[in-house]
Amino acid sequence: MKFYNTMNRKIEEFIPQDPTNVKIYCCGPTVYDFAHLGNLRTFIFYDILRRSLVYAGFKVKQVMNITDVDDKMIKNSKKRGMALKEYAAMYTKYLFDDLRDLNISEFESYPRATESVDEMKTIIYGLLKKGYAYKSDDGIYYNVSKFEDYGKLSHASFKSNVARIKNDEYDKESAADFALWKDWTKEDENVFWEDGIQRGRPGWHIECSAMSIKHLGETLDIHSGGIDLIFPHHENEIAQSEAYTGKPFVRYWLHPGHLFVNEKKMSKSLHNFYTLRDLEKLGFDPLSFRLMTLDVHYRAVLDLHLDTLKKYEKTLEDIDITMKSFDKLERGDYSSDKDSLKSAKIALNGFKDAVLEDLNLPLAMTQLFRLIDIINKKVAEGKINQSDYEELRNAVFEMDSVLGIIKSYNVPQEIITLANERKELRDKKAWMEADKKRTIINDAGFKIIDLANSNYIIIKNRKYGR
Ligand SMILES: [Zn+2]
Repeated sequence: MKFYNTMNRKIEEFIPQDPTNVKIYCCGPTVYDFAHLGNLRTFIFYDILRRSLVYAGFKVKQVMNITDVDDKMIKNSKKRGMALKEYAAMYTKYLFDDLRDLNISEFESYPRATESVDEMKTIIYGLLKKGYAYKSDDGIYYNVSKFEDYGKLSHASFKSNVARIKNDEYDKESAADFALWKDWTKEDENVFWEDGIQRGRPGWHIECSAMSIKHLGETLDIHSGGIDLIFPHHENEIAQSEAYTGKPFVRYWLHPGHLFVNEKKMSKSLHNFYTLRDLEKLGFDPLSFRLMTLDVHYRAVLDLHLDTLKKYEKTLEDIDITMKSFDKLERGDYSSDKDSLKSAKIALNGFKDAVLEDLNLPLAMTQLFRLIDIINKKVAEGKINQSDYEELRNAVFEMDSVLGIIKSYNVPQEIITLANERKELRDKKAWMEADKKRTIINDAGFKIIDLANSNYIIIKNRKYGR
């Protein structure tokens, strides 16, 4: 398996420290608002990374942090008149709803920054002791001029270190000493820690160093985050962690690219800013967004247009209808179709090669469509050999273990039962009774599509409530 490693700027063979325990740290969101589609593209990538590693035979331990204290959160929670904790819990719940709707796998842990403040303090004291950090009049800062390798990830050389930056986010061209610990001011109100340290709160960058070391150890196999985190966030994480432990912090750095909407960076003032809820209000299935992100290489810019998204939605439904029809195909001791099986095998091999080569999902998906074509052909034939059916279906499942886009297989049993009852009623021509069942199914967020010869499929209704 190969990945493009941002640190060395090339595609490299992936060799983890322990293949039965691949340590992955993913920078998670600051829960100050709903996640936007750019964030969600990154989180879908984390999931694809995980699924692909598992597909390649590795066992993973994946951690995504939740930043539940920072400048913006304190400001926004105050505006809403909510306690920081309560505010963070609300947006964390919304975040998990989004992850679920996008069929993103559950990771091993989601540590909250506020639960690791002791570990942050330990690192800060370690850095002070080693001379990498200093106290100033408003907090404790990291002295970037002390860390020789500063700039090695972003491949920048910094000559002057004149600035000192307290804010969590900054777009400086030059390096700047950044806050590890911010002394309390009255704007922070009741948000502070003070046990064994000057009353205050941690800076953003130190959170990730502390949580990654706490949950995964001093050297990570993979660290990932959106491309805009390379500088200063990831550069600062390296400086803190390596100065503190004296060990390499990360072996492979993976950075998914930007998301644009209508060729422009998303922004509220350009009216092209979307959350997943916005897409759902427009009637889109969240999985159509997932499918769209997979069709562009993760390192490339993804440019979202709503009419293109509609095409993905249609593709999603077509795949679903094919698989449902395939499951209803008459199966038995018919002669095996060796040619189709051979083509399916070629598609599956092509799929695997594409995934293993720096997660080339767009190429992998062309192989899924080859396989779907084969299945459509079998559906048109109206019957299939039982073991051919199993082999083809397994091939689709194998691909979907990475892609996670086939939606039909999570229809609850009670809906299936209702649909069967409806079919029996229709067979008896009890139309009104059958329609009542259909209404119950619709109300539960599912839709029945009737096919020829009294077959039917159930799909998740696109516009489901929240
Ligand atoms: Zn981070």
